Amino acid sequence: MASSDWSKAVEDQEKRLSAGMKRVQLGAPRTAPKTGEATPSAQPSAGDWCDEVDSGPEGEEEGDKPTTAAEASLLNKLLHDGLVKAKVSVEVQQKDPNSPLYSVKSFEQLRLSRELLDGIYGMGFNTPSKIQETALPALIADPPCNMIAQSQSGTGKTAAFVLALLHRVDKTNMWPQVLILSPTYELAVQTGDVISEMARFIPEIKIMLAIKGKKPERGQMIAEQIVVGTPGTVLDFLTRRRCLDPNRIRVFVLDEADIMINVQNFQDHSVRVQRQLKPDCQMMLFSATYSDEVMSFAKRIIPDPIVIRLKKEDETLDNIRQYYTICQKEEEKFVALSNIYGVVTIGQAIVFCYTRKSASALCEKMKNDGHAVALLTGELTLEDRATILTRFRDGKEKLLITTNVCARGIDVEQVTVVFNFDIPVDVYRQPDFETYLHRIGRTGRFGKSGLAINFVDGIRSREYLKRIEDHFGKKIRELRTDDIDEVEKLNEE
Ligand code: ADP
Repeated sequence: MASSDWSKAVEDQEKRLSAGMKRVQLGAPRTAPKTGEATPSAQPSAGDWCDEVDSGPEGEEEGDKPTTAAEASLLNKLLHDGLVKAKVSVEVQQKDPNSPLYSVKSFEQLRLSRELLDGIYGMGFNTPSKIQETALPALIADPPCNMIAQSQSGTGKTAAFVLALLHRVDKTNMWPQVLILSPTYELAVQTGDVISEMARFIPEIKIMLAIKGKKPERGQMIAEQIVVGTPGTVLDFLTRRRCLDPNRIRVFVLDEADIMINVQNFQDHSVRVQRQLKPDCQMMLFSATYSDEVMSFAKRIIPDPIVIRLKKEDETLDNIRQYYTICQKEEEKFVALSNIYGVVTIGQAIVFCYTRKSASALCEKMKNDGHAVALLTGELTLEDRATILTRFRDGKEKLLITTNVCARGIDVEQVTVVFNFDIPVDVYRQPDFETYLHRIGRTGRFGKSGLAINFVDGIRSREYLKRIEDHFGKKIRELRTDDIDEVEKLNEE
């Protein structure tokens, strides 16, 4: 937006607000900050207008923390039941940079057994996903090579390693040949299910789950060819029960390494399991994220790996229409939201609030207004968050009210509108450009066009938004939400 447009908007807003405004006097004592909760005295009362209660952390409330990358991975894993198609580029580092890099465009090119191909096609896979195109030729090549592969959740990593390990298993040998470590009980079960499904036409292949509550009879060796389990139980099978012979393991997989490193003892247990295996055992590690911490763990546990990284193309705001609407106070924001929500054809929408408290207050109001609304805030357990997000993904609720806990990494394809009920600011009370990008990036995913509407409730938040606009160099237009015709126009664009 040209700065003259902004000055005009500022001027107009000043006029519109002036009637009900009562500026707090300079030097008026501020309420002492209180973590995570708003003090009632710090809230604006009807008709009050003051910089001190402008959008964001003006010392009164602390915003909700964003979900960690590992938590986002796990949530996405639980959310996806189809391949995620994001724009990506592949980056490979290999031991021998002179050796040509193979990549395949069809499963047939991999020369897999007929039964395995039938299993893959039976799952509805027609062509390899991006990560599979690059990883599979290396994973099934002889001699076997070790691999570290990173790509976002839902891109086909599990299917890739399951295919590779099924290719390696000798179904005539009744002892464990493949060992897979998963960070949680649920993920181990989920991986076991994928193996069973892909090996549907190879009934001789059996799977043992090494998870809490499952143990072989005392003194009995495991006969299943594939063992999937959590690190502690697998370590117990290897060292205490001795029901698993590490010398016969030909393939070792460490799945969801980023989640693994966040669980106490798991790094240690995984390293202890890996040390028992023979040096010629093929080792693979998969992770949805690529932090220094994950990579140093990965390199510690996987010797001489080929490293494959699928990098998501940078998120942009190109296919997102951005608006701001001026509200005088909290109540007006609610009215504006209701007006837009009632008029705009919304697939699904997310509303971002700054604090848990404001999110839950808004949720109550929307519910009282008869809307089916989901509320997701940071105090919930990962399981509860997964349940709420799954319901939202399945369309049981069309509106999700949340905080920064959902700002990054969680993909729900149907989201077409994002509302910034509060403009994102960082701990230094500066506009948080990255969080803005991540929040707005919840819409317009997978090439679809999206709509972002920002609620401006004071001079400070207006200034924040102006800086956000300058930062990204993308116009944020004004939307008069009291003018239904104007709101309706959003449907036409
Ligand atoms: P990740 O391990 O990276 O999270 P998954 O292997 O679990 O990804 O795959 C995500 C989803 O995509 C699953 O539902 C899986 O069945 C499906 N999928 C995986 N590979 C393919 C493929 N080549 N074609 C179609 N669907 C696939």
